[in-house]
Amino acid sequence: MHTKVRVRFAPSPTGPLHIGGVRTTLFNYLFAKKHGGDFILRIEDTDQTRYVEGAEKYIIDSLNWCGIKFDEGVGIGGKYGPYRQSERKEIYKNYAWQLVDSGNAYFAFDTPAELDEMRDKLKLENNSNQQYGIHTRLKMKNSLTLSSEECKRRIDGGGDFVIRIKMPENEKIHVTDLIRGDVVFESNLLDDKVLYKSDGMPTYHLANIVDDHLMEITHVIRGEEWLPSLPLHKLLYQFFGWESTMPQFAHLPLILKPNGKGKLSKRDGDAGGFPVFPLEWKDPETGEISSGYAEYGYFPDAFLNMLALLGWNPGTEQEIFSLPELVEAFSIEKVGKSGSKFDPEKTKWFNHQYLIKRTDNELAKIFHGQLLKRNLNPDIKLVEKIVCIIKERANFVSDFWEHSSFFFEAPIDYDEKMMKKSWKENTSEELKKLVLILSKIDDFASNNIETLVKSWLEEMNLGVGQIVAPLRLALVGAAKGPHIFDIIEIIGKEETIERIEIAINRIK
Ligand code: GLU
Repeated sequence: MHTKVRVRFAPSPTGPLHIGGVRTTLFNYLFAKKHGGDFILRIEDTDQTRYVEGAEKYIIDSLNWCGIKFDEGVGIGGKYGPYRQSERKEIYKNYAWQLVDSGNAYFAFDTPAELDEMRDKLKLENNSNQQYGIHTRLKMKNSLTLSSEECKRRIDGGGDFVIRIKMPENEKIHVTDLIRGDVVFESNLLDDKVLYKSDGMPTYHLANIVDDHLMEITHVIRGEEWLPSLPLHKLLYQFFGWESTMPQFAHLPLILKPNGKGKLSKRDGDAGGFPVFPLEWKDPETGEISSGYAEYGYFPDAFLNMLALLGWNPGTEQEIFSLPELVEAFSIEKVGKSGSKFDPEKTKWFNHQYLIKRTDNELAKIFHGQLLKRNLNPDIKLVEKIVCIIKERANFVSDFWEHSSFFFEAPIDYDEKMMKKSWKENTSEELKKLVLILSKIDDFASNNIETLVKSWLEEMNLGVGQIVAPLRLALVGAAKGPHIFDIIEIIGKEETIERIEIAINRIK
């Protein structure tokens, strides 16, 4: 066994990184840091047909936004490089040939048409197993059925070929998964997967195993969709004679749709109005844009905290964890086997928790940027004051405007219902008197205004609601907003008086 923990995230650049992929990265990161190990970013780009322009950059940008750091890998370097598989092409060939030499793999020359023919024939015979493998390999064109001279002639002549694993017959393949325990597979149900192609590229399976071995990976933590590949991977370790240093495996449960029925997909996000990608993604082929958590206004730490609890359970009631706290609390044994439902509302709740923990100054700076786009440039101290009294009501900084626009702009309309309810016959007269009171107040601080106005109300024998409701209508335009005296303090004496006078004139 290797002594130092080394784990990797090994995405294929075939499209944007789904939040499930971010969670896989996070769990690898937590595991590595918990055990004082290394975390490696390897790009698995051997399948040229599935390569998507911009996907690698997208993956790296997304993980940077999340704040997940790697110790080695693409863009960082390290002594096990290169870390992009297309740059390691030369390495894999010898390993593929080694498997042929040891009798655990063979050359196959079948053309796509011949493969189709085989499948069609088996279909006609009602054979549900149409795989290239134990039952069919001896009827096909490969180095098990052709003479060695013929094979050599074909290979040396530059013809197309692939190298396939030779699945053993009647074997039970056992692998221990750190989350699932002992998992058993029947070799007879598995096909002779292609490991290498004559274009000089290995397939995922070969490259993945060779690299995990050469990079001294100790633990493979990946999504459940890779579980069916596990017996093949185990056999490859066995055939190469690398069993003693084979990594330990942990297959993470799926992230399910909000209704629990099936894997969470981009379509669920589109339908439910929530992102399934960390950053916005523009499909290079169709131009279609998918929304991202960053652009939606999520904080990266809130996003990671939410993801951590999808599948992992700390065993306590605690829900809010900073990244260092997650490292401390994480253990792979506490990851469950069954899928976890994605909850879009809870996701917002997490952001709210992180939003109210941010300082007013931090939030004010972000909000100020949004105000500039509205051609407003208030003093940052004023924005801080506003943020302080509205943040409890918001999930995102982008909600701030909705909760605070009246601080910056006088209301254009008044809410009809509220007007009918709160504006009585005497209201205009009473408000005129209030204007006089307000104009005499020198210390325009919320508390002071409140004390003075309330004692005036008592003197006048007026109920608080009688004046506060129409006052709110005049200042805000609707039955919303924080404490009325806080609003008065922030918008200031002049503006308050002006808005009251406008309302008196307009409503009468
Ligand atoms: N390249 C594979 C993927 O795209 C990696 C799977 C693994 O971690 O072994 O997810």
